[in-house]
Amino acid sequence: MKRLAMLIALLLLPTNGAYAVDIPLTCADQKTFGLRVSNVIDGCLDSEYSLGAGPIPISLLPKQDLDLNLLYRFLAAQAAAKKEGVALEITSGYRTLSRQKYLFAQAVKKYGSYDKAAKWVAPAEVSHHPLGLAIDVNYPNDPSSAKWLEINGYKFGLCRIFKNEWWHFEGNIAPGWKCPAMFKNARALLNS
Ligand SMILES: [Zn+2]
Repeated sequence: MKRLAMLIALLLLPTNGAYAVDIPLTCADQKTFGLRVSNVIDGCLDSEYSLGAGPIPISLLPKQDLDLNLLYRFLAAQAAAKKEGVALEITSGYRTLSRQKYLFAQAVKKYGSYDKAAKWVAPAEVSHHPLGLAIDVNYPNDPSSAKWLEINGYKFGLCRIFKNEWWHFEGNIAPGWKCPAMFKNARALLNS
């Protein structure tokens, strides 16, 4: 992993000779989930999980489970929330493509058209759940706990994505960055 980080850093070297090797990398202790900022050259310790140095990249390779980077980000956030008496849990994470297609088809039945359904359930071709890159947190009964994640998630690289889905989070920033503006709903992804 260290070698990979080194390789990536070398690829990122600017051509003017300056060494851009100190890109911050956030690491979480495997036991306490306390955060520590390292850099992409030094990497994380064997006793730590890497939470990454940027947004979690979208890979189109077939997935069978939640992206590990996303899982570690969530576990670190969950540990921090617990210290403040807030219980966070993933109520839906990775979904197969066929499951997402089924959920979308159900929504089309419920709302009456593809367009209306897409406001509430992402069509399989744009949903990040089948890519292992999205989690639904504390859905459907606990929006107030999920609010903790909406406020504090950026520290762990987690952001709420949709204005109409308080439960849906993705790892679309580096830990510590500011979350971008939310999309109006899943339908907006079809235009982006
Ligand atoms: Zn979701």
